Parts: sequence; structure tokens; C-alpha cells
Amino acid sequence: MSTGSPVGSHRVVSPAGALPQAADRLDPDPEITEDEVRISVERLNLDAASYRQLHTAHGGDGEAIRAEVLAIIERRGKMHNPVTGSGGMLIGTVDAVGPRSPLGLKPGQKVATLVSLTLTPLHISDGLARWDGDSEQVPTSGHAILFGRSIAAALPDDLPEHLALAVLDVCGAPALVRRVVERRAVEHRAVERHAHATTVAVLGAAGKSGSLSLAAAKDAHAAKVLAVVRDEIEAAQLRGTGLADHIVVADATDPLDLAETVQDALGGRGADVTVVCVDVPGCEHGAILSTATGGTVVFFSMATSFPAAALGAEGLAADVEMLIGNGYVPGHAEYALHLIAANPHLKDLFIDRVGKED
Ligand code: NAP
Repeated sequence: MSTGSPVGSHRVVSPAGALPQAADRLDPDPEITEDEVRISVERLNLDAASYRQLHTAHGGDGEAIRAEVLAIIERRGKMHNPVTGSGGMLIGTVDAVGPRSPLGLKPGQKVATLVSLTLTPLHISDGLARWDGDSEQVPTSGHAILFGRSIAAALPDDLPEHLALAVLDVCGAPALVRRVVERRAVEHRAVERHAHATTVAVLGAAGKSGSLSLAAAKDAHAAKVLAVVRDEIEAAQLRGTGLADHIVVADATDPLDLAETVQDALGGRGADVTVVCVDVPGCEHGAILSTATGGTVVFFSMATSFPAAALGAEGLAADVEMLIGNGYVPGHAEYALHLIAANPHLKDLFIDRVGKED
């Protein structure tokens, strides 16, 4: 058995010297090195921004979406949407574990990979024949490779697999929101010696990462939590859940209208923390304008343009901190699953979104 690199550089076919995430193409050879793990794949969860882009590009034609996803995986050796640059994650069963793998996984264990599909070597063996292209979740067979420095979580026993997959796909969002809100509380207490009054606005609040972010903001004792949703249908889904103090309808891609709506709901001031969980491009400037001076914007969305965010903030002379939603925060999977278990309304929102059946 050969020795690989813990970051998977030995799997990069091109360009030479790149790490797997930036690579054009990976080698999904099923033979593992000493510190790798091979997973027998059961289901992919395509990232929401990626699926929406594919859906729009193919006018909702499931067969064409299926063919393109298959072509991407075969061409790149990974599910890395070249347009959005995003991937998703997967669930499967541990098939083989190299003797030097530090991940603590055992053959036969059901796991979700918590690293992006954009850097996970992947081979599909069934031509995606069981997927109609009509949803983000893709039942399939094949194998995937985890490196020494990857992350995977054992699937919980008390949640249907497709639900766990949807929760774990976005589990970085609530952990990051909790961290940002709690950090502000500590900073404010140190400076002002009074309890914090952080307001949080979540854009795309009825979606998966959005609803988990609402729950995390409440859990972190934010003073006011504002849910911004796309339409009245989503507003109705959130009403009565206790996840938000206020619910408003606005188009997150319309900067002036969004900022006015957020400020009206928060008593004439922007939010201290704005979390972007919308799966379409063009929300950068609205998010910045909706954030109070000295506040923080968390760009969790993979549809975010980072040049648009950076240059837009500069052009608006907006003194806001902007965070890229790193999908990894220690303890993120356990925290997201805890929020779902603790809040039946949140769980119901997920069930409505991803369906009841496994
Ligand atoms: P989701 O469940 O589809 O939620 C997105 C929400 O945004 C939906 O409720 C959607 O409404 C709403 N929306 C769409 N257009 C809108 C608009 N113009 N104004 C207001 N709301 C709008 O998506 P998700 O799975 O939570 O993912 C959200 C984002 O996080 C995606 O961009 C995804 O790529 C990203 N993500 C990031 C990471 C990371 O590691 N940073 C990991 C996973 C996902 P409709 O459903 O009615 O369209």
C-alpha cells in the first residue's frame, strides 16, 4: 500500500501542484493509500447554489440535469460545478480503511462526509440511473475517497438518512452564527459592561441553512432575530415556530428595498449580524447595506461573489466585517443535529423541504 499526502495532493491529475479543491481533475482510483478511507457511496447532496444553477441552465429538465452532473463527475473525478464552484457532500458506508488513517472510521459504518464534494475523489458506477434530476439529493452507487485530513460524521440513529444529509450539508452555518453572536456578546460586555443587544438578520431564512441560523441566533441569546424570506408562503412556514422575532418579505437581490425592509423591522438601524443563506447570486450589496456600522456579514452562500462583496463594501464606505462561511467549525455537525432534535418546528421545516420518505 502506498503512502499518500494527508491533504490529497497525490490524487490531483491537473494542474500539477494544486490541492484537490482547486484541481480541475482528480484521480478517483478505488485503491487507497495508507491514510485514506474508501466510502461506498449511497447518496449525494448537491449544494443548493449548484443545483439551482443546473436547474436554471437546463430549464428544469431533469434528464438534462442528470446528464450534466454525470458528465461533470466523469470529467473531473469529483462533483465540482464549474459555474458555481460548489459541490455538496455525501453519505455512504465505510468500505476500506488504510492502516494509518487518523479518522477513526470502521468498515461497515454509515457516515456523512463533511468535506466538500469539490475536493472528494468520486466515481459513479450506476450512471445516476436512480435519480430523476428533480431534487438536490441523488441516490446512487459508486465510491469516494477521504484523505488523512478529511472529516466524516457517523450518521445519527434517530433521524432519517436523507434528513441527516440535508442538515449536515449546511451544519457550518449555525455553528458560525453562534460563534459570531457569542463573540460580540463577550466584546460588548468587556467594553460597555452591559449585556449585549445583538440583532441578527438572516436572509433566506426559511431555507435549510437559514432556519438553522435562526435557531443558532436564538440559542446564542441574540436580542432580536429577523427572518427575511422570499415570499408570503415562506413567511407562513416560519410563523408560529418561535425561530424569529420578526418575519419580513423581501427580495435579497434588491439592495435598496432589502436594506429599507431590514432597517424598518429593526427600529431604523441595520442588523449587527447579517447572515446570507440565499442560494442565488447578487445578495452582496443588500446584505452590506442591511448591516449596522461595525457589524458583521456572514456570507454562507456559495453564490456569493467575493469581489462584489469586497468592492461593494468599499464603494459604500461600509465599515463592516465580512466573513466567508467556512463550512468547518469544530463541533458543527453535533451542534446542528442538537438544534434539530431540540426544536420540532425546525425539524418540520426540514421535512417540508426535503420530503418525508427516505
Ligand atoms: P435552501 O435550503 O435552498 O435555502 C435558500 C433560501 O433562499 C430558500 O428559502 C430560497 O427561497 C431563498 N431565496 C432564493 N432567492 C431569494 C431571494 N431573491 N430573496 C430572498 N430569499 C431567496 O439553500 P441552503 O441549502 O440553505 O443553502 C444556502 C446557501 O448556502 C447556498 O448558496 C449554498 O451553496 C450555501 N452552502 C454553503 C456551505 C458552506 O460551507 N459555506 C455549505 C452548504 C451550502 P425558495 O426556496 O423559495 O427559492
